[in-house]
Amino acid sequence: MLRAGLTGGIGSGKSTVARRLVRHGAVLVDSDVLAREVVAPGTEGLAEVVAAFGPEVLDAEGALDRPALAAVVFGDPGARERLNGIVHPLVRRRSAELIAAAPADAVVVQDIPLLVEGGMAALFPLVVVVHADPEERVRRLVELRGMPEADARARIAAQAGDDLRRAAADVWLENTGAPAELEAAVDALWSGRLVPFEENVRMRRPVRGGPARLVEPDPEWAAQAARLAARVAAAAGERGRGVAHTGSTGVPGLPAKDVIDLQLGVDSLADADAIRDALRDAGFPRRPEIDHDNAKPTGSAPWPERYHASADPGRPVHLHVREVGSPGWRHALLFRDWLRADADARAEYLAVEREAEARYGDDPNGLRYSEYTEPWFDAALPRAESWAASCAWSPSLH
Ligand code: ADP
Repeated sequence: MLRAGLTGGIGSGKSTVARRLVRHGAVLVDSDVLAREVVAPGTEGLAEVVAAFGPEVLDAEGALDRPALAAVVFGDPGARERLNGIVHPLVRRRSAELIAAAPADAVVVQDIPLLVEGGMAALFPLVVVVHADPEERVRRLVELRGMPEADARARIAAQAGDDLRRAAADVWLENTGAPAELEAAVDALWSGRLVPFEENVRMRRPVRGGPARLVEPDPEWAAQAARLAARVAAAAGERGRGVAHTGSTGVPGLPAKDVIDLQLGVDSLADADAIRDALRDAGFPRRPEIDHDNAKPTGSAPWPERYHASADPGRPVHLHVREVGSPGWRHALLFRDWLRADADARAEYLAVEREAEARYGDDPNGLRYSEYTEPWFDAALPRAESWAASCAWSPSLH
């Protein structure tokens, strides 16, 4: 099973996307629908709302009078919080029931308008954001949904801005254009990403790296790493001791293989084993055949670690789980920080990588590429260490 969070501003096209995904076979959990269901006549939710706000929030038939309730909570943050405190847990419980009832190979799409505002993005293995320009959204809400223009503008203004949503998005669906463009993008998302991602998670099968190709540095790498790190940290829970963006993409301006390396610190490898399944469910299954790093310098006793990698075919990620303070944990941070600080070292490392690419770039799994670059790390270690001593460097958890 794969859970994908679907969000976007009001009028952006969430429901349109959700409908198309359902046509492909997705199981939809729509939080707006559930928020109405849990306070329908005869529910425990409605009884709680009446107990909190009085019988004046009921209409003549005994159903919730939404405009009356809206008038009570409008402009009263405390009342709104009390209402959310009743409705949100019930929606969460109902969502969990629906997810538990879905088939084991389901792609579950959770349509949550306030996913970003509610700080829930890191709880999903994949977040899909639908976007349309605000003026176009106003036009659609007014012309197609019959909403008064002032209402449409007020609702749009009350929601998260594009920057926050962009930071949370693994997938950005642009829907300012024609419906057919959106449909094509959703179809490609379904077959090219959601279906294989779900299967990979279920089969505990990380995406295997293809041939090693260096690409120009992507200014988005840092933001992508931050989003992925938040997801890993959420999955690790209280056993996590910080997630760092390591590896070549963690060095701004350096051409690199398009892989985000993350290092999750833990107190012990027993803790790493305890969170194995949580990391898998977050989209990062373990590769059990890799249980150590080659120690530096080469030939010393291997450094134990646990190694996970992304199951998302759209975003290669290598996730190293290492004991905080262990030599392997420190080494990853030392080289990243040294390369960040020293332009000559960066240039030297890049030259070695370019040579590795020229020799082994066609190798199907990139292993010989890594082997080729290892001696450079051995040789450079004394210089990295003297740099560290000169600036009293100490490893940070992030
Ligand atoms: P949301 O669920 O995000 O509030 P909807 O999917 O309901 O948004 O879309 C808002 C309105 O705009 C609907 O009436 C929908 O049919 C319409 N719509 C969605 N996408 C497009 C598009 N690309 N062009 C024109 N109208 C659209």
